[in-house]
Formats: sequence, C-alpha cells, structure tokens
Amino acid sequence: MKTRFAPFVLICLFSSSLYSQSSMEGKNVLIVYGGWNGHQPEVFAKKIASWLENQRANVTLSESTASYVEKELMQSLDLVIQHITMSKMSNRESRGLRDAIARGVGLAGCHGGLGDSFRNDTEYQYMVGGQFVKHPGGQTDYKVTISNTSDPVTAGINDFNLKTEQYYMHFDPNIEILATTSFSGEHDAWIDGVEMPVVWKKNYGKGRVFYSALGHSEDIFDVPEVWNLMIRGIEWAVK
Ligand SMILES: [Zn+2]
Repeated sequence: MKTRFAPFVLICLFSSSLYSQSSMEGKNVLIVYGGWNGHQPEVFAKKIASWLENQRANVTLSESTASYVEKELMQSLDLVIQHITMSKMSNRESRGLRDAIARGVGLAGCHGGLGDSFRNDTEYQYMVGGQFVKHPGGQTDYKVTISNTSDPVTAGINDFNLKTEQYYMHFDPNIEILATTSFSGEHDAWIDGVEMPVVWKKNYGKGRVFYSALGHSEDIFDVPEVWNLMIRGIEWAVK
C-alpha cells in the first residue's frame, strides 16, 4: 500500500514545490501611495503589499514621492508600484523615478494611481503611456474585452462585465493593448462606439510598464479577472 502511494506523494511534493516558486520571490518592490483619498491609496497599497509578502518579495511602503530621490533605495529595486491620484511631485522626484525605470526597474499600477497622477508632468505621462481625462457617467455597466488572448498577462482570462468607472484616456500609440472597452454614447453621444484601452503594457528605456485602468475601489479587486490582470501585470513588469 505504502509503495503504491509513494510515487503519488512524490509527485504531489514536487508539484507543490513548483507551485510555491514565485516569480516575485526575493524581488525588491517599492510601493508609493498617496494623493486623492477617494481612491483609498493606503488600502490598495496594503492589499498589494500583503500579496507581495506572500510571494516572498521584499516590500518597502512609502507615503512620499521623496523616495524617488533616495539613490540607494532606487538602485536596489526591481519594481515600483505607484498609487497616487493627482497630487504633485518635484522635477527631481519625477526624474528619479523615470531614470530608475529607464535603467530597467519595472513600473506597475492601476486606475488613477498610475494613470491620473501628476497632471502637469508630461514626462511622467510619456513614461506611463496614457492619462485619464474623464469617466463619463461615473459608475456605469460595461464590458472589458480581452483583445490579446495569447499574452501571459491575459491568457485564459475571458471577457467580463463590470460596474465601475469607465476610464476615457488620452493614450500613447506606442502602448501594447491587452484589453479594451467600448463607450456607449449614453452620456456623451459623440463618443458612441469609441474603443478605449483598459489594460496595456509598454517599455520605457529598459523598464517594463504595466497599467490597468481598473481599480476605483477595493471591491473591484474581488472580481477575479481584475485581480488576476493586476498581479500578472506586476509579475510581467518586474525586472
Ligand atoms: Zn476612480
């Protein structure tokens, strides 16, 4: 009986050790959060930090863009996750972040925390690949269409429906679009049928940048597709 089960037990042990290996293990991740409180930056930062710690990443949480000019910290990083809606940072801080990403540190984030930060900083926007301008109608029902089904970030994820803010963005033609949404025209007739990126990835120098427009409130991450897109994007972006 025992010998018959031994191979099965071995397979289980082997696959569980494979399963527990995370691409985030040992990675140095800086999470910087703040800005407009309506997006619950601290709640988001702690949720992501908790997941990263479970993946055995080394997480530094910061409430200030002053971290972007801490040379030793920035040089130690594999990934920056930012959640700061609007707000401002100094030119020096902006350059500190951009230089790190250009050197190969990854950058990931969602919603206003990455895509509506530092409205007066076009160099920052050039790095991220898009900028929020409006969410017509506020909370609306819409469909997210996976436009690239073979990418590791989206593989196996089907189109899904949501009720949340539908971001209308000015975006960079250089982004690689992974998921889109279509506007109905119910709130602004002239945008009827406009297709808008929801999830994208891109490069900035040697760095990888991942963005998802989804993430207005904590409960939106209970939607498995939203959460999976986010964590897979983080795994893709890390150095
Ligand atoms: Zn929002």
